[in-house]
Amino acid sequence: MSKVVIVTGASRGIGRNIAYNLAVNGYRVIANYNNSEQEALKLKQQLEDKGIDIDLFKANVSKRAEVKKLVDFAIEKYNRIDVLINNAGIAEEKLFTDITDEEFDKMMKVNLYSAFYTTQETVKYMLRVHEGCIINISSIYALTGGSCEVHYSMAKAGLDGMTKSLARELGPSNIRVNSIAPGAIDTDMNSYLTDEDWKQIIQETPLQKIGYPIDITRCVKWLIEDEFTTGQVISPNGGMVI
Ligand code: NAP
Repeated sequence: MSKVVIVTGASRGIGRNIAYNLAVNGYRVIANYNNSEQEALKLKQQLEDKGIDIDLFKANVSKRAEVKKLVDFAIEKYNRIDVLINNAGIAEEKLFTDITDEEFDKMMKVNLYSAFYTTQETVKYMLRVHEGCIINISSIYALTGGSCEVHYSMAKAGLDGMTKSLARELGPSNIRVNSIAPGAIDTDMNSYLTDEDWKQIIQETPLQKIGYPIDITRCVKWLIEDEFTTGQVISPNGGMVI
């Protein structure tokens, strides 16, 4: 049977690209979304046009009860989860002194608690079969820090902490846990950047280009197939951080 993969936040951007390409490559994809139902349905239709079926599952992954339903769905339908990709995330530009408690809570819940919930709910099934692959989509800001994105950077650094600790704990059970920490990727998340901003980013990047979701998908595909990498934070960023 094909490997079963859950991708959180698969309606748009990086998650959508990951879900699409894994499905095309023969994985059985459960694509999670929250608000963007139309985009999620479009993804399903695009794949159906190629004769490929995927499952869509609406869940706000910052809520334990909804995550539990997502994981229960996967187990009831396929009785296994081989790969979990914690991709869902939000970002926000804000002066540190302006961040409210509510904004801080939301940032942590969507970017960090979500991965705690999905991973905890999923790992028990991976432990049963002594095999699994967990990929956390972090950020270059977890490595460098991001001015005016302190809460975002904190959440992503927490995610990398989870990656490293859990890799140690689950390694003997043959479950690999890694982070991918993208540099600047052209998605809705960066729609606030002007052409001038992008030009500057390109100038500051050794490879002289920005990233696209497919650059992250390639890394995901490699990590799924690999058998000797765990606890790592891999950063496709064009050389912005070396
Ligand atoms: P995006 O285009 O804004 O897409 C975000 C995705 O996350 C959407 O599919 C959205 O689903 C989903 N999502 C948000 N909150 C959710 C929730 N509570 N429950 C379920 N899904 C939720 O962002 P992106 O650029 O693809 O980012 C994907 C990941 O890469 C994020 O973790 C982000 O932090 C990370 N990243 C991005 C960049 C970059 O430059 N773009 C750089 C570093 C790291 P709905 O629309 O359906 O709600």
